[in-house]
This record gives sequence, structure tokens and C-alpha cells, in this order.
Amino acid sequence: MLKKSVTSGLLIVASVAAAQPRPENAQELTRFEAAEPHMGSITRITIYARDDSAIPAAFARIKELDEKLSDYKSDSELNRVCRTAHGRPVKVSDDLYRVLEAAQQIAYDTEGAFDVTVGPLTQLWRQRKMPTPAALALVGYRNLVLDPKFKTVSLKLKGMQLDLGGIAKGYAADEALAVLREHGVPSALVAVSGDLAIGDAPPGKEGWTVRLGGGGDHVLHNCGASTSGNTEQAWYVAPYHLYAHIIDPKTGKGIDQWEQVIISVIAPTGILADALATTMLVMQSKVGEAYLKERGANVFASFGALAH
Ligand code: ADP
Ligand code: MG
Repeated sequence: MLKKSVTSGLLIVASVAAAQPRPENAQELTRFEAAEPHMGSITRITIYARDDSAIPAAFARIKELDEKLSDYKSDSELNRVCRTAHGRPVKVSDDLYRVLEAAQQIAYDTEGAFDVTVGPLTQLWRQRKMPTPAALALVGYRNLVLDPKFKTVSLKLKGMQLDLGGIAKGYAADEALAVLREHGVPSALVAVSGDLAIGDAPPGKEGWTVRLGGGGDHVLHNCGASTSGNTEQAWYVAPYHLYAHIIDPKTGKGIDQWEQVIISVIAPTGILADALATTMLVMQSKVGEAYLKERGANVFASFGALAH
């Protein structure tokens, strides 16, 4: 395993002080921060509020989503659907349906650069194995069928495995932010690993200053931001191959690139930013950038030599 050389995460630094009057009640709000492990990584919540009583409910929402959407937990809703939806529609929760619907839209738009049916390939990747023809034959977003009327899912091929690792964290961040807002805390930032959902600006500021791995500090509010990289998790096959955990569904192999690539996407929501950052790592082309603009998203990329 290549040593993690650069964090694709983020650093939240104090916003550049804006020379403008602070709202009447700004003084009453205090900054609270908390971190918990969820979805295989650290989740951080930062809020400006009178107290920190809203934070546990936001973490609880992320935990609930992990239990539904994880492909690592055998009894997750996602895995139960994979076991039962072959050739027949299975009714799913609103959460699972929303994530699959967003994933399928991006899959169709990008002709499968983003494809949550990559599960058989990611399972091989996790064992450091190369793709097999049998695994490749089970991959293809067109074999995942959604019915928006009845909120059902069906899988055309037996043995298909869905993997929401490229999109679920962004959705969880959005949902945690929504919980904070429902609790009367609109000024908040939720970071599930490098996948961010950003609420209203801190009191008296123009936004949250967020340092993105793909490039630069950005002052943001009411949007999502995500970073994906090819060296975050990768394995090396001498002398020239470095297989990233993001898979090109066309070849079945991890993105194989002999340089470090870090891509950050800012988008209207966390779910979109998460999925599009993963997609851009597969596409890495102007075509991808034009598509991002259409979806109201911006991309920042940094390329560098690999650290050994
Ligand atoms: P991270 O999970 O490290 O934040 P990403 O958001 O880029 O990074 O997601 C990578 C994960 O997405 C992989 O671990 C895998 O679960 C899943 N994945 C890999 N390739 C694809 C792909 N082409 N389309 C959709 N999901 C993918
Ligand atoms: Mg992603």
C-alpha cells in the first residue's frame, strides 16, 4: 500500500474577517466542534449556536445512513437489496432511493464513468486482485432499474453488487446539515471525511473558509464540496502501476496513473460534489468540466509527483 502522502481532506481555517457589522445576536453564538468516527472515516461537525445540543442528532442521522447504505455491513439495506432484487422490484427506503436516483442520473450523463454497480470490481480491488471477466460482466448501470413511482429497485443480473462509496458520504453530510437546520442551527459545516456540506456562513462572515486539496482556499456557504484523490488509497504493482480505489468501469481496473491527482468539486449539494469528484477522477477531461458547469459545479485539480 502506498503510504498516504497528501491528505485529500481539508483544513478549516478562520474566515477572513469581513469588515461589516455583525448581526445583532452574533455575540450570543458560540463555535462548537465535535468529531466521531462514521462511514469508515472521521466525521467533523462545526456549528455556531447557543449550545451544542443539536450535534448528537446530526451524528445519529449519519450513523443511520451508514447502516442503510454501507456495502461493508452485510445486513445493510443496500446489501439486502443486492441479495433480493434480482429480476424483481424491491421497495426501498427514501434514503436509498434518493442516493440511487442521483447516482443513476450521473451514470447516464457520463455514460457510466460514475457507476455504482462497480461492486464486484471494488471487492476484487480490496483484495488487491485484477478484474476478472466474470466480475466485469456484472457491471453496468443499465442493469440497475429504478421505478420512481413505487420507489423500487431491481437488478437485471444475479450477483450484481452495488457500492455507494463514491456518493453516500456526501449525502450523509447533506442530511446531517439538514438535521442541524431543523434544530435551529443553520450556521454549520459537516465534513464526512473529505465530503462537506456547508450551511449558512458563520455570524458576521461571508462564508466558511475551506482549504480544498484540489486547490486553494474558498469562502463558501450553502453548498457542498468534495475531494477525491488517486493516492488516498492505492496499491502498487512494480514497476509502473498504481491502482487507485476509484475504478474505471470500462476497464475494471483502479485508475492507473503515475502521478498524483487530487480533484475537488464545489457543487450545490454535498451528494453532487461527492459523486462528481469521483466521476472527475475517472474522466479527467474537458468534457467532464463542461458537464460540471452544467450542474452548477466548479472543479479544482492539482497534479504532482508521487511521494515515495
Ligand atoms: P473516498 O471514498 O475516499 O472519499 P470517493 O468519494 O472518490 O473517495 O469514492 C471512492 C469510492 O467510490 C470507492 O472506494 C468505491 O467504493 C466507489 N467507486 C469506485 N469507482 C467508482 C466509479 N467509477 N463509480 C462510482 N463509484 C465508484
Ligand atoms: Mg466521491
